Amino acid sequence: MTLLPSCHDVQTHLTEYLEGALPFHRRLGIGVHLLLCRVCSGVLRGLQALPWVAKASLKAPETAPEEARRALADVQALLRKGSR
Ligand SMILES: [Zn+2]
Repeated sequence: MTLLPSCHDVQTHLTEYLEGALPFHRRLGIGVHLLLCRVCSGVLRGLQALPWVAKASLKAPETAPEEARRALADVQALLRKGSR
């Protein structure tokens, strides 16, 4: 058994590493590996960005209510014209 985990081992356990679900010696090995390995630290950054991407994708439909509000204002303006 080597002191540092392999790239495959690190990437397999990255989610647990982020959640703090691994025992101390495993976290230490993965942490040192992440400091030394650009590939695995890149994968880690990708995982950390995921919640932000998910939030951003949920935010996108917020443009729709603005369009609906404008459409409603147009309809109300037409109705006001029509009632005179
Ligand atoms: Zn690696």
